[in-house]
Amino acid sequence: APAVGVLALQGDVREHFTALTAAGARPVAVRRPEELAEVDGLVVPGGESTTIAKLAVAFGLMEPLRERVRAGMPAYGSCAGMILLADKILDPSPVFEGEPSGGSGAPARRPEQETVGGIDMIVRRNAFGRQNESFEAPLDVKGVEGGPVEGVFIRAPWVESTGERAEILAVHDGHTVAVRQDALLATSFHPELTGDHRVHAMFVETVRTARA
Ligand code: GLN
Repeated sequence: APAVGVLALQGDVREHFTALTAAGARPVAVRRPEELAEVDGLVVPGGESTTIAKLAVAFGLMEPLRERVRAGMPAYGSCAGMILLADKILDPSPVFEGEPSGGSGAPARRPEQETVGGIDMIVRRNAFGRQNESFEAPLDVKGVEGGPVEGVFIRAPWVESTGERAEILAVHDGHTVAVRQDALLATSFHPELTGDHRVHAMFVETVRTARA
């Protein structure tokens, strides 16, 4: 079975382990560059993208992640993971701890949120807004056979725009919520929370193909 890493810094790592196992992969926790080097593909879980990004920098993983994605490693991001695979992020959290005030009396500006990138898309964080912070909706996902996928959205991002190389796989309410670009896959929703492993199976198939 292909070894599929799950970036295990923060977020719903365990649920992705279960889904990957059901989809025929061997899940591996990735917290260090040495562990990243061993995997055939990587899942970036749902959680809090600012926290995952900060921990990735602190653990010396951000550059190795960018390098492996650039080199063609298959990667799948759900929700916060989608944000981390986006080349550009909009509307990052205004909260940034430990920021120097700057001394001029002007409000300190938050530096841009770090991202791994790889998918030519602009993703807006927490895009579905307050009234809709969590909801479920059936989604037709291109490449997933056998009926709609139940989309679980939790303070979910949407894809504001995609570049030419990115393919839109699913739309909800006029907003793109699933994208693929080569061996990279991203969903605004959390298939790992539903017991339906078809999206993970699609990703594991991508990992198998890339490995062959
Ligand atoms: N709102 C979170 C973020 O911006 C993502 C939420 C999630 O992964 N369920 O990182």
